[in-house]
Amino acid sequence: CGIVGYVGPQNALDVVLEGLRRLEYRGYDSAGVAVLTDGGMATAKKAGKLANLEKQLGEQPLPGSTIGIGHTRWATHGGPTDRNAHPHVSADGKVAVIHNGIIENFAALRAECEADGIEFSSETDTEVTAHLLASVYAQTPAGPGRLAEAMRATSRRLEGAFTLVASHADEPDTLVASRRNSPLVVGVGDGEYFLGSDVAAFIAHTREARELGQDQVVEIDRERGLTVTDFSGNAVEPHAYTVDWDA
Ligand code: GLU
Repeated sequence: CGIVGYVGPQNALDVVLEGLRRLEYRGYDSAGVAVLTDGGMATAKKAGKLANLEKQLGEQPLPGSTIGIGHTRWATHGGPTDRNAHPHVSADGKVAVIHNGIIENFAALRAECEADGIEFSSETDTEVTAHLLASVYAQTPAGPGRLAEAMRATSRRLEGAFTLVASHADEPDTLVASRRNSPLVVGVGDGEYFLGSDVAAFIAHTREARELGQDQVVEIDRERGLTVTDFSGNAVEPHAYTVDWDA
């Protein structure tokens, strides 16, 4: 339902939680976050209001980080439980994914993953995208853009509506996101980037926005900056605009 991502110099958890608060008006039943740390990843998720998640984070703090993602969920597949809340993590523990929308062909993809021995830990349509992305990533040659390439290959296999944002523990300076039939906006600040399901996610920080088109993938990398392509990997110039309403 609500999506926020952050790469920059600030405390990512603070930025992400603030963004999620600004998206609360959309309604939601659960919330969760993931941050990347040196050589690892940490997640927290909880059914109910953001306050529930924040209480848990107070009791079991995540390591400090300057790159992270957050989600408020409006359940479509699987009840509003802690386990079904996003982020969903791949079986190898490396990929974290948040998702708005519905993956229409999730049952067939889930059966395929289960045939490969992957155990699912939720009832959502979303979880399959974490496992797919992790296995495609493992087969993608190392080098710059590897996670974006894996996201494109994963997106080509999905049917339905999705805004997906993902991180990989082996890529501590990169977020990737993909969209089809569901909105995704990037906020560009001074040495920092934001991802949002709408501009409310980052309007407190920047008004410079890039709107992703249908069937496009964006990579945000701390060194290389912002790269947008279609699902085949062709470079795309995203629509740039300045948000002209008040925060
Ligand atoms: N279909 C996904 C789920 O039920 C995402 C729902 C949403 O857009 O929040 O978990």
